[in-house]
Amino acid sequence: MESDCLFCKIVAGEIPATIHYDDEKLIVFEDIDPKAPHHLLIVPKKHIRSAVELTEQDNELVGHIYQVAAKVATDMGFADAGFRVVNNCNEDGGQVVWHIHFHLLGGRKLTWPPG
Ligand code: 5GP
Ligand code: ZN
Repeated sequence: MESDCLFCKIVAGEIPATIHYDDEKLIVFEDIDPKAPHHLLIVPKKHIRSAVELTEQDNELVGHIYQVAAKVATDMGFADAGFRVVNNCNEDGGQVVWHIHFHLLGGRKLTWPPG
């Protein structure tokens, strides 16, 4: 836990969030400023600053993230229609919260390429 980290505080329950899934490795909660009808954030409980800092030790975690994304999308009823999992990494990637997270977006036709 990083004392100054917003997502560590949400993981610790110090800041409220609407949580849809919780296990020993990660939590999934609603984004405060949704960009699609369904916009969840998949957040590992371990503080990792960005995707650049992932190591081989995190391989299982990253695989788990995609399994949970599919499960949450299925449980919420938008998996068959389709969804997107996005990690914004560092400045050019659009990262603003420095605790790794994966956006799970669905509920509308998403355009490509992204902005
Ligand atoms: P990034 O741009 O770093 O990939 O995404 C950060 C995301 O965190 C943004 O989509 C933003 O809306 C979301 N966010 C920022 N602060 C909070 C908060 O306090 N609570 C929740 N639930 N989401 C937040
Ligand atoms: Zn953190």
